[in-house]
Amino acid sequence: MKIGVFGGGQLGRMMALAGYPFNLRFSFYDAAVDCPSAPLGQLFGDKHASPESLDAFIASADVFTYEFENIPVAWVEHIAAQKPVYPSVKSLAISQNRLNEKKLFSQLNIPAAAYHEIHCADDLAQAASLLGLPLVIKTTMGGYDGKGQFVLRHMNEVSQAWAELGKAVPLIAEAFVTFQRELSIIAVRSQTGETRCYPLAWNTHHQGILSHSIVPAPQVSAATQVQAEQYITQILHELNHVGVLTLELFDTQSGLYANETAPRVHNSGHWSIEGAVSSQFENHMRAVAGLPLGSTEAIRPSAMINIIGQHPDTSAILAIPETHLHLYGKSERVGRKLGHITITAETYEALQTRIAEVAACLPNKMAL
Ligand code: AMP
Repeated sequence: MKIGVFGGGQLGRMMALAGYPFNLRFSFYDAAVDCPSAPLGQLFGDKHASPESLDAFIASADVFTYEFENIPVAWVEHIAAQKPVYPSVKSLAISQNRLNEKKLFSQLNIPAAAYHEIHCADDLAQAASLLGLPLVIKTTMGGYDGKGQFVLRHMNEVSQAWAELGKAVPLIAEAFVTFQRELSIIAVRSQTGETRCYPLAWNTHHQGILSHSIVPAPQVSAATQVQAEQYITQILHELNHVGVLTLELFDTQSGLYANETAPRVHNSGHWSIEGAVSSQFENHMRAVAGLPLGSTEAIRPSAMINIIGQHPDTSAILAIPETHLHLYGKSERVGRKLGHITITAETYEALQTRIAEVAACLPNKMAL
């Protein structure tokens, strides 16, 4: 079976690495000839996404999926009219638009920040009087790694917020959620409707980019894990989702609040390659190919550390016991995710010691 993947980044690369042992083969749609997935399959796509390049991509595979959500729904509809696409067009249309996500959370009674739709600068003043300050103003589409956001703390910043984001209306203004930490849950749903959930990940960000995750998130009660599983399972079934889905959450004093969904494998799930019985990538491939799902159980505590901007010394990293290096074949650039490191250990204490050893080897000395 050949899987066609929209996007040729590191997520597509790791999907293919997980799919090859099942004799799955791949093609990718990405305009960048040197994208991380390029060594693993046939590459299609051009800068202008011509209909010819899309049709050649459709002809190249049996089943389709995507590794990023910022693709036009019309393209995926075009494929879905001819061949199976997992996750569904509905999953994509909801997850790529923050307003649709918020409406879904409210429909399913999943707690989330109160919000207000913004079409003009005056709406910002109205949002502030309804929701209070600070307000987190976000573009509804296309934002990632904290881009396309403005935290409005004082009303005299309205014109600055509008100058930065006003061109991307409609915007969404969210009430500021005071959280203790950020968590995420990843789950997979098969073509037969079976679901499995990974343990909650505790995610720490640096300058808007995920810096590291610890999984299973320490000090999470069984009730919190069950609550997160209930939320994500409701979403999976509502969307008739097939494949992996991620739900980012805020852990607050009054329980879990949903932040956003991603209809795909996620950076906070990379630990699962070595830390879980079946990784998020393997389970996504199983679901897309119509195979039985694998166990999502964590083998033992894991930490995933992103390599951002500069490569570390490979030998130094690999000299640390139970440490695994994943490089994505990218060139160095400030803020770019170049790879990740997964560490596993018997205990959280041992994990912390190894995290400190890895941190000391990172060129930009990330605070971990
Ligand atoms: P997002 O792109 O929605 O994941 O937002 C990026 C980051 O901004 C999150 O990881 C949070 O740290 C922060 N953030 C987003 N929305 C809110 C909110 N409503 N209240 C407080 N912090 C937020």
